Amino acid sequence: MYQLNFVRRHRWIYLRFTLLGLAIVWFFFALQLIFVLKKFQPEFAVVPSLLGFCIGVLLASVVALREEVKQRNLLFRAVADFAQEFTYFRRIDGHYEYVSPACKQLTGFAPAAFYQQPNFMDQLIHPDDREPWKKHVHRMHTEGLPEVLRIRILNSQGEVRWISHLCSDVSDDRGKVIGVRSTNLDVTEQVLYEQRLQRLADYDPLTDLPNRRMLIQTIEELVHDGENVHKFAVLFLDLDHFKHLNDTHGHTFGDELLIALAARLREYRTGEIMVSRFGGDEFVIVVPNIESVVDAAKCAKEILKQLEHPFAIRNQRFFITGSIGVSLCPHDSNQPEELIKNADVAMYRAKLDGRATIGFYSRDLVQNAADFLDIETRLRDALDKNDLRLHYQPRIRLSDGMMVGVEALARWQNGDEWISPARFIPVAEESGLIDRLTEQLLRQAAIQSLRWPNLHISFNLSGRQILRRDLCDWIHGIIRQVGASPDQFELEVTEGILMNAKQDAATHLNTFKQMGYRVALDDFGTGFSSLSYLRDLPFDVIKLDGSFVRGMHDNAKDGAIVRAVATLCREAGMELVAEGIETEQQLATVSALGVGEGQGYLLARPMPASDLDELVRQGKLITTL
Ligand code: C2E
Ligand code: CA
Ligand code: CA
Repeated sequence: MYQLNFVRRHRWIYLRFTLLGLAIVWFFFALQLIFVLKKFQPEFAVVPSLLGFCIGVLLASVVALREEVKQRNLLFRAVADFAQEFTYFRRIDGHYEYVSPACKQLTGFAPAAFYQQPNFMDQLIHPDDREPWKKHVHRMHTEGLPEVLRIRILNSQGEVRWISHLCSDVSDDRGKVIGVRSTNLDVTEQVLYEQRLQRLADYDPLTDLPNRRMLIQTIEELVHDGENVHKFAVLFLDLDHFKHLNDTHGHTFGDELLIALAARLREYRTGEIMVSRFGGDEFVIVVPNIESVVDAAKCAKEILKQLEHPFAIRNQRFFITGSIGVSLCPHDSNQPEELIKNADVAMYRAKLDGRATIGFYSRDLVQNAADFLDIETRLRDALDKNDLRLHYQPRIRLSDGMMVGVEALARWQNGDEWISPARFIPVAEESGLIDRLTEQLLRQAAIQSLRWPNLHISFNLSGRQILRRDLCDWIHGIIRQVGASPDQFELEVTEGILMNAKQDAATHLNTFKQMGYRVALDDFGTGFSSLSYLRDLPFDVIKLDGSFVRGMHDNAKDGAIVRAVATLCREAGMELVAEGIETEQQLATVSALGVGEGQGYLLARPMPASDLDELVRQGKLITTL
């Protein structure tokens, strides 16, 4: 369409200007005839006609050329102005020769802003992208190859926009660079979409921490970093009793806790440490430049320290604890998947090992993890069949050897094998079977208490039960259901529990006391043994841990401490029980130090209720002290 129009115009221009040329020359020729020659001869007309024709053609060519340039210019603008891309041509001195109107939409600035300021585009580049931009401009001028660059600009409102910037230089006929041409497309939406996709692929949507995929990729990069052998640790953090928390408070609550924990871990992360969420309540932390097991242990401790302060969720203070398993590269493996698996196995050991919260990988750990699963399966079966029993270990008043009570201890015989509570209680806690176990055993103890109306029965509560909001009502319900009396029961909680949930423990213990139960602090001396526990919590009884009693003879200070604790308990109206008395010497020492009561193999072993009945009947349980 445009082409046809153009040709028709050309013909018309040539015709017009040829006639014009002829007319002008003929006009002067006519004047010459009239005023100079005064006579006409036809051959005189040849030269003026040719001359007129040539002048006409010449004029026509000039005008046609100008018209063509104008038309082409218009055509270029018609296309460039209409394009969505922001296009420009910048001379080598920085001045803009052409800027398409689309620049307004992309940059917020009208073309005039570009025309007025040389190199205006440079000013729009995002500060963080200036370096790559400078390099790009430099490459353009040195190499002269077209280049596409994705870069951020700040528009007139100060907003960040992503552009796809295509650019190449323009040379004249002699090959001299005279400027730069460029088209720019707004790709902000696309980039944001890609970033969102990338984030979904690499990050956990709940906590916004790197996910398993990115974790493995990071470990892979660390392992295969050229020639260097990197030493680093993989720490597998698993929260204790998280499932229980989810069950009692709901999953949204659990989610909020995970988010809060992730924020805390993120804060802790320094340098190149990577914190990722592996799944559920599991977090994997990769710590580069770890030279030794000691370094790794320090780091794991630091992380556990992050959990020590309570989490505030829905105006409630909440304590959580966790266990960490550690594997080291290249010592334990140099394969990402295997390093994580090994750290996981090590974490299992941390959980199995009652009080330890940090475990290290070694080959035999694989066996421990398998054990855990095996015990869980068999324990479930035992609970279904109500196979667990209680044995009772007498507690003796040291002044006269009288039995004042018994401690109920879980016993499980699986086939010919006796499985120790030290093995199955942690499994029950972690697998969520502990509530069923407690319920079955407490019922047995309550029934037994009816047969021993004059004996106190101490019953152990597990750490995770302190997290139950309904703990007191639940325990009380079982006791009442059987028709037993609360004042015959003493509930033992360990120091370990208090470390993690002192506030909850305080509430529960006070309620128990109001309901008529006695409460005892178990394993005193093994944890932090904080005096504030004794001051702030309403304990009737303190049980000094067996390990403490055992160590007493090797360490002179221990004697002084036991004496001090005995005095403290007496003055504060609490009973002190020494656990794990195995020798006459230990018995003599604790008695001499003023400890009121004792428990241990020397005095009496844990035994089935029937054996105890028999002993009591024979009057044998009043020991000869
Ligand atoms: P614990 O509460 O400190 O119980 C005392 C442990 O010391 C018992 O181990 C007992 O058999 C043992 N013991 C008593 N006298 C001596 C002694 O003279 N020397 C030595 N070396 N040990 C002595 P047991 O029965 O193996 O129980 C281990 C732990 O398992 C208990 O420690 C308690 O924390 C837990 N446990 C036992 N039964 C239950 C239960 O029904 N529920 C809960 N939640 N935990 C329980
Ligand atoms: Ca106990
Ligand atoms: Ca104990």
